[in-house]
Amino acid sequence: MTRWTLPPEQIPSAWFNVVPHLPSPSQPPLHPGTREPVGPDDLAPLFPMSLIEQEVSDEPWIDVPGEVLDILKLWRPTPLQRARRLEQALGTPARIYYKDESVSPSGSHKTNTAVAQAFYNAGEGTKRLTTETGAGQWGTALAFAAAQFGLDLKVYMVRASYGQKPYRRIAIETWGGEVVPSPVDEPDQPGSLGSAISDAVRDCVGRDDTHYALGSVLNHVLLHQTVIGLEAREQLGQAGEGLPDVVVGSCGGGSNLGGITFPFVPDAGVRLVAVEPLSCPTLTQGRYDYDFGDVGGLTPLLPMYTLGHDFVPPSIHAGGLRYHGSSPLVSSLVKDGRMEATAYPQGKVFEAAVRFARTEGRIPAPECGHAVAAAIDEALAAKETGAEKVILFNFSGHGFLDLAAYDDHNHGRLTDEMG
Ligand SMILES: *Cc1c(COP(=O)(O)O)cnc(C)c1O
Repeated sequence: MTRWTLPPEQIPSAWFNVVPHLPSPSQPPLHPGTREPVGPDDLAPLFPMSLIEQEVSDEPWIDVPGEVLDILKLWRPTPLQRARRLEQALGTPARIYYKDESVSPSGSHKTNTAVAQAFYNAGEGTKRLTTETGAGQWGTALAFAAAQFGLDLKVYMVRASYGQKPYRRIAIETWGGEVVPSPVDEPDQPGSLGSAISDAVRDCVGRDDTHYALGSVLNHVLLHQTVIGLEAREQLGQAGEGLPDVVVGSCGGGSNLGGITFPFVPDAGVRLVAVEPLSCPTLTQGRYDYDFGDVGGLTPLLPMYTLGHDFVPPSIHAGGLRYHGSSPLVSSLVKDGRMEATAYPQGKVFEAAVRFARTEGRIPAPECGHAVAAAIDEALAAKETGAEKVILFNFSGHGFLDLAAYDDHNHGRLTDEMG
């Protein structure tokens, strides 16, 4: 067999909270004005109380509400696939498995948290959500989820992507969301995730009926993504494997990486690897410090690896990885040496993604290509040593709405200076 699925009743019924398993205690977010730790009341204009509670929770497991499970069952559990044809092409003794999150309605893992966030907001009376989107994956995921709960949605889309990726905008509009290019006040600027967050937060705090939803970085978002790693653990067992030797995920804000790796944090022998773009090397070259989540300095200060909140990353195709900061939970694991981080140039990522497409069939999203590239390097290293290691990586999303990027790669228009 090369493919393992679980019956729908085996979707994890509780999320895995990594906080009790961190090597050192997590540090609180600070208020942007006072620099004191933020309390629940500071966050209440932005998020519903149930998500704020999850944000600061140190309970080891948190139940997934039945209404959320019912929607996740539209595509979960997702398959675990063994990449045998890729293994053969590489001539590696390693066994490579990938968790296929591309089968969700919006084509990426982001739908996992979108559904939970829409559910808690609707339950606490929110009528409208605002958010930012870079490449468009988060906007599409939240638009699908908002439609399930009858919420209005306004998406501030990084202007560069708004122009380059009309299909994401059209998908958001099809699910009922409204999309505007950001930064709204500077029509000449290409924008960045950090500036789009400022726009979405400003809109949200100006209205009583509105909350804000973030697609990555925060603890509750990574919590919701742990269904990925929990399912993968079960499926590796079905495949006759014990624990993997290494678990790999691409890292923008850290959500798909946290989702696949966190359930393995307590297993000391399992290596965990974050892969980021060389052009936005937050974990590998950033400093560990308190910084704002947005360009405008409106969000709480988060303890994380950061390139500085005014860092505007070059316009690479992996738009979802263009973020100056990273999740505090991922940052803390990297700082304490429990997780490794590595950075890849754009050209190498696309070579790996094409190699994967030609052997395994699936065309990865450029973000996901980073995990593919690192998994291939792990497999090639195993070939050197003859080690029969088990590699698990997260196939965070498909690239069917990113084909223009492949066109650039296939026709030699892609440069590493760009990324
Ligand atoms: C958004 C996205 C990423 C990066 O975001 P994380 O929060 O770091 O996971 C990676 N892959 C895909 C397919 C994405 O849509």
